Amino acid sequence: MIPAQFDYHAPTSVDEALQLLRDADDAKVLAGGQSLIPVLRLRLAAPATIVDLGRIASLRGVREDGDAVVIGAMTPHHEVADHPLVREHALLLALATETVADPQIRHRGTLGGALVHADPAGDLLAPALALGAQMVIQGSGGTRTVDASDFFQGLFTTVVGEDELLSEIRVPKHTGWGAQYEKFTRVAQQWSIVAVAATVRVEGGTIAEARVALTNMGSTPVRATAVEQALVGAAPTQEAVRAAAASAAEGTQPPSDTNGDADYRRHLATVLTARAVLAAAG
Ligand SMILES: Cc1cc2nc3c(=O)[nH]c(=O)nc-3n(C[C@H](O)[C@H](O)[C@H](O)COP(=O)(O)OP(=O)(O)OC[C@H]3O[C@@H](n4cnc5c(N)ncnc54)[C@H](O)[C@@H]3O)c2cc1C
Repeated sequence: MIPAQFDYHAPTSVDEALQLLRDADDAKVLAGGQSLIPVLRLRLAAPATIVDLGRIASLRGVREDGDAVVIGAMTPHHEVADHPLVREHALLLALATETVADPQIRHRGTLGGALVHADPAGDLLAPALALGAQMVIQGSGGTRTVDASDFFQGLFTTVVGEDELLSEIRVPKHTGWGAQYEKFTRVAQQWSIVAVAATVRVEGGTIAEARVALTNMGSTPVRATAVEQALVGAAPTQEAVRAAAASAAEGTQPPSDTNGDADYRRHLATVLTARAVLAAAG
């Protein structure tokens, strides 16, 4: 279908974009368009104004800032996945980004767009949560920083207001941590039925620190804290990791749909968690 008519603006600075969002009655931000354009074409949304962030150079790129890797919201998936700083300090995010859709979509879609879209089956929410990422949000009232644990509010909903922008994602460095993103799909290049993001630090033959988060086990990504606690101090053996992974579905509320019911997803979560942690621990 053809989208409903809208005014189109392509500002070249964040200030200009914020002014446009402030002035427009019903505006929507456009990033890579890989989720928004289908929504417009299906007329599930019909905003009066589109503010395209594609020409704002300051929103794109990866840099280092002390203990964090800072990723501009408009950085496309392929750049995140391949960037040496991301691979060295936030390997989990790079590995998860490699699994998003296909090369065409990874060249257009952006990290910021995926996080604000907040699809529970999206692959970048759980890694952001597991790594303790911080979201930098700019609006007319100034800049605020929100932890990933507070950012996702519900199905397709985040704390980003209608007149605000996600400008960058600050990922604390996890240098030397092993990582794995285990994604379960029926056919290649599909959305996750369930996926598990795991990153661990192994020291002297035992797991010293572990962070595990689940994709599509609720309306927002979920930290598997019981698993993390059980892993710390354990040797990364099949037996110990499987025992810890048994509590992966604790406290989750997975959906039931044509891909699988909630019980099936709970089972998947335990199996994928064990696989992800074992791979992350090497
Ligand atoms: C066929 C197909 C398969 C896909 N498969 C996967 C998959 O396997 N895994 C996966 O994770 N994703 C998948 N995606 C989604 C893909 O990752 C998208 O790139 C992503 O969800 C949206 O990013 P975008 O940059 O295209 O955002 P857009 O579509 O441009 O925007 C999405 C939403 O976020 C808002 N927004 C975007 N950027 C900002 C910002 N900086 N500040 C405030 N609001 C903003 C927009 O207003 C809109 O509401 C798939 C998409 C398609 C079309």
